[in-house]
Amino acid sequence: MKLVLLGAAGSGKGTLAKKITRDFGIPQLSMGDIFRDIAKSGSELGLLVQKYMSSGALVPDQTTFEVLKERLFQDDCKKGYILDGFPRTLDQAKLLAKVTDVDAVVSVELPFEELEKRLVSRRNCPNCGEIDNTEYEGYTGKCRKCQTPLFQRDDDKPEAIKARLEVYKKNITPLINFYGDKVFTVSSAGSPDETYRPVKTFLEKLGAK
Ligand code: ADP
Ligand code: ZN
Repeated sequence: MKLVLLGAAGSGKGTLAKKITRDFGIPQLSMGDIFRDIAKSGSELGLLVQKYMSSGALVPDQTTFEVLKERLFQDDCKKGYILDGFPRTLDQAKLLAKVTDVDAVVSVELPFEELEKRLVSRRNCPNCGEIDNTEYEGYTGKCRKCQTPLFQRDDDKPEAIKARLEVYKKNITPLINFYGDKVFTVSSAGSPDETYRPVKTFLEKLGAK
């Protein structure tokens, strides 16, 4: 099963992807995580990617697609995958359509004020990738899974957040129109589990399990 997740920064798209991976056994291909790894490597491509990411701008479509394509055809993707953060533009969707069809698209929606609020208080685990929030009950500053101290991403600072949300706003409608009937929309206003429940039912009906 090949799934695309759409949703702005802070929508809970990554958290949702992790739950789908757990229950349906397909890997999460997070474009943001892939780019963060490349940026860390310090290569020429890494420096380029870092420049876009730190300002909250998108990496150019063609570069992004080349990077994704390499990942898409690795062994663990044979049963399918969850595309988390790709496509983000209509042109990316068209590039993807040239190499594969997707079975379904889940669009995670949340009002913009709420997205901003969640992003400034978001914290990440550098060790296992767990995402937490200073506003959530029981927050201690350490990862709930592996106890590593959490950190704040550079692009979760206010200026970059604004830029990322603008980019999202500009691109989402063409993407939704492109995928048409394949799109299942869910609100992430509730808890992570409340967001996941209708998505799980939707995926089970699709015959994923
Ligand atoms: P967000 O929390 O904004 O969803 P991600 O971790 O998914 O953040 O992505 C971080 C950054 O990586 C983006 O702001 C952008 O610079 C780059 N990036 C991620 N996915 C894409 C994509 N599909 N196309 C271009 N750039 C991307
Ligand atoms: Zn951790």
